[in-house]
Amino acid sequence: TKVLVSGSNGYIAIWVVNNLLQKGYAVRGTVRSEDKGTHLKKIFADYGDKFELAVVPDIVKEGAFDEAVQGVDAIEHTASPFHFKAKEPQELIDPAVKGTLGILESALKYGSGVRRIVITSSCAAVAMTGTTPKICTEQDWNDEAVDIVEKEGSKASSAFMYRASKTLAERAAWGFYEKHKSSLNWDLVVLNPPLVLGPVMHEVSAPSSLNTSMADFYNTVILGTKAPELLLTGLCWVDVRDLAEAHVLALVKEGVQGERIIVSAGPYVWQDWMDCANSLSPSPIPSHPNLPKGLPGSAKDVTHMVLFSADKGEKLLGIKYHTMEEMTRDSLKDFEQRGW
Ligand code: NDP
Repeated sequence: TKVLVSGSNGYIAIWVVNNLLQKGYAVRGTVRSEDKGTHLKKIFADYGDKFELAVVPDIVKEGAFDEAVQGVDAIEHTASPFHFKAKEPQELIDPAVKGTLGILESALKYGSGVRRIVITSSCAAVAMTGTTPKICTEQDWNDEAVDIVEKEGSKASSAFMYRASKTLAERAAWGFYEKHKSSLNWDLVVLNPPLVLGPVMHEVSAPSSLNTSMADFYNTVILGTKAPELLLTGLCWVDVRDLAEAHVLALVKEGVQGERIIVSAGPYVWQDWMDCANSLSPSPIPSHPNLPKGLPGSAKDVTHMVLFSADKGEKLLGIKYHTMEEMTRDSLKDFEQRGW
């Protein structure tokens, strides 16, 4: 079985590739340039021709995935911009929506072997924070972010632009699926992870070039640069290794087709990670003997305004999640090994 993984050099995608290869799948990973595939080729060298690269320079371009989808049995679409540096909404919305629709369109036209497509959406497409505690489920949609971005345009914060891009891309995917359902060889599964944390496997030269979620973790736990008023804020999280497992389970499980599935280990606030890091003994990161402490012990009093329900995911996928301690220990160990 061969699986196409888009954006395979990304933080989450490389763990998905790793998981697939470990389980015996063949993988074709897309990257934007040959260069971006060098690290992948190196770390997956032992798998020989079970791992191959496909260069897709611009996912926004019509027909971008036409070649890449040929000869694969399934697709994991993860490529989408995740950063808060956009000046214009379209910087994020275009690649998110057109990339998603494009890969579905290519699969419809040229993916005669494709049986299932899994899309990495986000809890950002489910809900935002509110003023009263709420448990959000797969029934919820973050249309609020879309409304804000429609109203405010380039004046909207880039966090809203990102959330809007994820909502619009996921809505577009379901729209496409519904429209073409009767003529598709494949079914669709959407995974909605909250903040994704855990050890890094993709190519990162320095902490300053970490992907968005791990940069936030590193800056908070190691550098202590998170503003004090944000230390008791947070949403839900999931370990990147569990999310990778979910991507593989979503390919094979019965009963997941046509479902969006929240994949969440539970709530956090940033202070939790600081408390965790400081409580680990022996320290997994001895090169930083004085980790920042933040506001020790105050995390337990926080009321979470948004909780993402993991019930459906647990029922359909049955993942055993890494704990906060495990994720923190393994991430700090990873930083230590890199000399960060
Ligand atoms: P990364 O930034 O590490 O990876 C993003 C991947 O998408 C890279 O391969 C990147 O390619 C590719 N990509 C981004 N923009 C474009 C573009 N304009 N054209 C083509 N390719 C593009 O992020 P993550 O691994 O964290 O994110 C992967 C997916 O998971 C995204 O869909 C994101 O929305 C989603 N997600 C992430 C969460 C998190 O906390 N990390 C939480 C919830 C969802 P390149 O390296 O060439 O830029």
